Amino acid sequence: MTDGISLDVPPSGPGCVDCDAAVPAGWWVHLRRCAECGHVGCCDTSPAQHATAHARASGHHVIQSFEPGEDWFFDYRTGDVLDGPELTPPRSHPEEQPSPGPAGRVPADWLQHVHR
Ligand SMILES: [Zn+2]
Ligand SMILES: [Zn+2]
Repeated sequence: MTDGISLDVPPSGPGCVDCDAAVPAGWWVHLRRCAECGHVGCCDTSPAQHATAHARASGHHVIQSFEPGEDWFFDYRTGDVLDGPELTPPRSHPEEQPSPGPAGRVPADWLQHVHR
């Protein structure tokens, strides 16, 4: 399975690039990495669902979890969770970065704002 996966592209950074760019800046529950271009976005539980928005806008259809200790891939075309190759490190956000995160941006009533 290499369609939609680029092995030599590093992740865009430690947080959701779209939440970081938003005004006011957003927060997320979990992070997902686009396996094709390295875009790091927030998961579908997160308020803004930027990983899925990126997949829709770009046509990049494979993501990998960007959570410490998780290495599963997901293919938006099939809805399948898959195993895949080792992408360029780092393969998750920093361990000390909390979920939900990032520290300082998560409201006290965050559970009221997530998608389930
Ligand atoms: Zn986001
Ligand atoms: Zn992408």
